[in-house]
Amino acid sequence: MTARQRTIERAVKISGVGLHSGRPATLALIPAPEDSGIVFVQNVDGRRSEIKVDGSRVVETMLSTTLGIDGSNVHTVEHLLSAVWSLGVDNLFVELDSVEVPILDGSAFPFAELIREAGIREQNGARRVIRILSPIVLAEPGRRLAIYPADEFSVDFTIRFDHPALRYQRFQYVASPEGFISEIARARTFCFLREVEAMRAKGLAQGGSLDNAVVIGEHGVLNPEGLRYSDEFVRHKILDLIGDLSLLGYPILGRVEAECAGHRLNVEMVNCIRAQRDRWQLEESGVRVGTAVLPTEAQSVSP
Ligand code: ZN
Repeated sequence: MTARQRTIERAVKISGVGLHSGRPATLALIPAPEDSGIVFVQNVDGRRSEIKVDGSRVVETMLSTTLGIDGSNVHTVEHLLSAVWSLGVDNLFVELDSVEVPILDGSAFPFAELIREAGIREQNGARRVIRILSPIVLAEPGRRLAIYPADEFSVDFTIRFDHPALRYQRFQYVASPEGFISEIARARTFCFLREVEAMRAKGLAQGGSLDNAVVIGEHGVLNPEGLRYSDEFVRHKILDLIGDLSLLGYPILGRVEAECAGHRLNVEMVNCIRAQRDRWQLEESGVRVGTAVLPTEAQSVSP
């Protein structure tokens, strides 16, 4: 059976503030023709920019993932992209009137709800997927990120922190739209109280609050409502990882193992996959398709 490309049925909108910029933002999801991919259309101060999500436009990975082209940047794309990719939307225009995707409640759930509200529509074109053919492993002291051949996408993630309220968590996730909604989407972004002042001093987290992030103090979580899952932190790391790997622009057949990975290492994996063309192939209905694919120009990634 041929899997078809998909877009949404109708345009939908949502508003909020940017986590780091603190600026108000309205985001609209709009159906896109087949073979469009995911395209951010940014309108800020009378300037219009289009940024296609293809792995070549990452300009920054500190605390969140930023895409950019010709000086126009879109910050904190990962939660939205995690929902779009996990719900199987291939083609989409994302209109944004600000420099940052709104953080909403700090999770991917409001975006998943928005996509479900929009409805999903099959298109005529066959869906293309990236099949990993041989392992790609990134390792550095204390961190590791690897992807292995598999017939489905899955993630086994382990985090370790030197903090009395958060030492070790591990979660294994096998991707499906339903699994994403129930196991991953609601996990919120988190930070340690001891980091908040330093982030603010750098001009980050200006829109951050207990309404859109879990804050971990010396003795535990400061949010009065507590956690949504007992292991919410590692689940959010999976949410971020999916959003970052989705930058490749295609669904992925591969098994991911991650230990203490974050945006920088995730994006390094995206770049490695793009560079190591002998370790994967693009498939359509289980059959390898030609070489027309990921752009190959060099990207700049700053830590
Ligand atoms: Zn996140």
